[in-house]
Amino acid sequence: MKDQENNSAWITEKLDSYIVGIGAAISGYCDLSGIPDLPFPGLKTGISLGINLNPEIVLSLKKGPGEDYVREYGKVNTRLSELAEKVSGFLIENGYNANYIAPTKKVIDPEKISAEFPHKTAATSAGLGWIGKNALLVTKKYGSAVRIITVFTDAPLISGEPVIKSYCGSCSLCGDICPAGAVSGINWSRGMPGEKLLNIRGCFEYNRKRDNDPDGFGICGVCIAVCPWTDKYLKREGLL
Ligand code: SF4
Ligand code: SF4
Repeated sequence: MKDQENNSAWITEKLDSYIVGIGAAISGYCDLSGIPDLPFPGLKTGISLGINLNPEIVLSLKKGPGEDYVREYGKVNTRLSELAEKVSGFLIENGYNANYIAPTKKVIDPEKISAEFPHKTAATSAGLGWIGKNALLVTKKYGSAVRIITVFTDAPLISGEPVIKSYCGSCSLCGDICPAGAVSGINWSRGMPGEKLLNIRGCFEYNRKRDNDPDGFGICGVCIAVCPWTDKYLKREGLL
């Protein structure tokens, strides 16, 4: 038992340092064994990794969606895949199994209207943040201006403290501004399905019809920029 604990502490500490060195903005670990249909059976430890969006591009979203955001979205997805690849490789070198699924190009799949794996569930379970009324991960450091990926492993990492409630309080800014009227306005609690927070199809259909997004990239992003938790990030960056 002592050996197991020592091993968990050893690999957790070693991975912590490695992740800091490769430039993830936020990271945490969680036990995914309660989640059905995991993409890699046997890999039941989740590593949630996040990268913040460029603050100037987030600021520009306050005026509405644009091409810069679409480009940034793609760029951050590429960086997330690179991070996940490195973290998987690091764990494999250290004798564990690890794998990941690349972030989706579209936030919302037109067929399934849902993501392949609930990365937000891993992030909240790892203690990185809560699900806002905009149905996005909200972190105290970057607000909603962050994108995440999950690495799956059998390494015995020490899990973070899950976030189980919303810190949105009585704020309703994302719902007030949503051009699709898709935000229902209720506070998230752990286990709540995303559909209760957001009319996902309404958000998708709105975005699909936007002039600059004929392919339905999936998110206009104004609910990211309006969030007061995102504003804290922009203030720290000297942009507000
Ligand atoms: S991405 Fe745009 S349409 Fe979708 S919920 Fe946010 S503000 Fe509304
Ligand atoms: S804008 Fe307000 S309600 Fe919406 S996610 Fe941010 S804090 Fe929550």
